[in-house]
Amino acid sequence: MSVSSVSPIVTTQTMPTWRQKDAEPFVRIEQINKTFGDFTAVNNVSLDIYKNELFCLLGGSGSGKSTLLRMLAGFESPTSGSIIIDGVDMSNVPPWERPVNMMFQSYALFPHLTVEANVAFGLKREGLPSREVKQRVADILEMVQMGHLARRKPHMLSGGQRQRVALARSLVKRPKLLLLDEPLGALDKKLREETQFELMRLQDELGITFVVVTHDQEEAMTLATRIGVMNNGEIVQTAEPHEVYEYPNNRFVAEFIGNVNLFRGTVVSDERDSAAIQCDDTNGLIALDHGISCAPNQLVNVAIRPEKMRIAREPSSAQNNSAEGVITEVAYMGSQSIYKVRLLSGKEVRITQPNSHRDTGERLTWDDHVYLSWDADSSVVLTS
Ligand code: ADP
Ligand code: MG
Repeated sequence: MSVSSVSPIVTTQTMPTWRQKDAEPFVRIEQINKTFGDFTAVNNVSLDIYKNELFCLLGGSGSGKSTLLRMLAGFESPTSGSIIIDGVDMSNVPPWERPVNMMFQSYALFPHLTVEANVAFGLKREGLPSREVKQRVADILEMVQMGHLARRKPHMLSGGQRQRVALARSLVKRPKLLLLDEPLGALDKKLREETQFELMRLQDELGITFVVVTHDQEEAMTLATRIGVMNNGEIVQTAEPHEVYEYPNNRFVAEFIGNVNLFRGTVVSDERDSAAIQCDDTNGLIALDHGISCAPNQLVNVAIRPEKMRIAREPSSAQNNSAEGVITEVAYMGSQSIYKVRLLSGKEVRITQPNSHRDTGERLTWDDHVYLSWDADSSVVLTS
């Protein structure tokens, strides 16, 4: 039997839309720029978003997330480039005629209206029959678990409850595309987590396409089907959460998402299925189990996540992929411990280890001399 005949058959049903070749995007952003005077807030962004995605725009403050979202909603016009939603070019379509709803960072509820009336407001204005309005409002309030508080006014609600009312108000009009700008920003950690799951559930039930802006990488990792990482007005990587974490395509993404140790070094060999990097901070070389298609002697950064490094009192038997140093800090976090180690070169690295066993032996502690090691498939080489 040939190898190809036993390889699994990938059907389009199980594969997410964005991985399918030739799938039609629901939103197509093409070479969008937005300048304010001589300042470029959004720089040549191209992005396809597919139906039923929960797409997160993730980036630091001022990276251009809100500006991009506002252009999707039609509150800002691009300086150049185009936006196509559901096959229609939005250039000359005003906000109120787009199949889009936007929930703002400040929820902007009407203070004198009840929860119910706040949610019904938009539907009434559209002139829908009052029976239908009533039914749809009741359904959506049930869905966001606010049915029992329908008669309250906004000042009688907690921050999290107000947030759910605002969400209900933007969902009740059944937009094809819902844009949320830092929707969970005002919530405390626990409520935030609950609401994240609620958002995912609602998205799943209603089949609306969501674009969510956040500066919180954990939130993006939890919520998103895919993440677009923004920096200085550009999208620097678009990928699924695990890819963004495991295979960052540049240094900014590696450092922005989670913790990472970066080792600067020179490429000394680069074959089809192996490569080696000479680094002053490590014992031996950094050896990789894949080629990297670099120029000879190219300077690179090698990224290794803290949880992918092992720490021990004894050196590993391997010649490469190891380092030694002294523990300078230990933080016991219950489920895991974090160690900071100063290598012989003086470089500080961070290692996290799960505490999978109850303590039996002697714990590693400050000033212990330790050896670090990692596998050939644990590091990512970054050339930019
Ligand atoms: P983010 O939402 O990622 O924090 P924004 O999209 O709000 O960032 O802003 C990106 C950059 O564009 C910021 O430096 C901001 O000051 C600037 N900017 C946004 N709107 C305007 C405007 N109307 N006039 C001038 N500069 C603006
Ligand atoms: Mg913003």
